[in-house]
Amino acid sequence: MTAHIEIKDVVKRFGAATVIDHLSLSIDPNEFMVFLGPSGCGKSTLLRMIAGLESVDEGTISINGQRIDNLPPGQRDIAMVFQSYALYPHMTVADNMAFGLRNIGVAADVISARVAEAGRMLEIGHLLERKPGQLSGGQRQRVAIGRAIVKEPKAFLFDEPLSNLDAALRVRTRVELAQLRHRVKSTMIFVTHDQIEAMTLADRIVVMNNRKIEQIGTPMEIYSRPATRFVATFVGSPT
Ligand code: ADP
Ligand code: MG
Repeated sequence: MTAHIEIKDVVKRFGAATVIDHLSLSIDPNEFMVFLGPSGCGKSTLLRMIAGLESVDEGTISINGQRIDNLPPGQRDIAMVFQSYALYPHMTVADNMAFGLRNIGVAADVISARVAEAGRMLEIGHLLERKPGQLSGGQRQRVAIGRAIVKEPKAFLFDEPLSNLDAALRVRTRVELAQLRHRVKSTMIFVTHDQIEAMTLADRIVVMNNRKIEQIGTPMEIYSRPATRFVATFVGSPT
């Protein structure tokens, strides 16, 4: 199952500040869409509204034609992977991955099959009985992705998942993510302020700046035909 995500005229305010200003965007089923922009431009807020972690002040968000902006996060069939991983330190890797499924009453044998499969896919099968404190940063990161995969969601949302990794591991994990998206048929939205990550991972990039979309396009379009001076400067296009 995969998601066509439609964002229409969405506004988000925090107090007097408007942080997303009448933003519209359509994300195709199975697309790998990257939200790229400088710190503070509203990427995480937009992602959190899709996930249901922030309310929408105006406009609508739909998945496959059904409005989801009024649904609680648990009913949106979306999985989010955080920068901080947000693992439970007292639980094993297997239990961290199983936790969300147990909460919604998925059968135990289904859960163990999915955990084993995700463990294989992410090459953390040998770490399932460890606690997060006994893992490296890169391994914790895989567990966080594994926890999303076992939910078999319609869409995956990643909020700067590579930011806490060192340079070498970032590159390796980026390559692995690119492979993963071909194995897991699902819509993926990936937030980053890193142009290289965006260019190497995206089917299309949404360049954001200051509450708005500057340009939407393939990495090649964004790079070779930047729509605004901001885009040209931010992605480092030749001018
Ligand atoms: P990004 O992820 O692109 O760095 P954010 O979406 O986190 O940007 O933030 C966009 C703007 O909204 C920033 O100015 C930030 O300070 C503000 N903001 C984010 N969350 C809150 C909040 N809970 N309360 C008030 N302001 C917020
Ligand atoms: Mg952010």
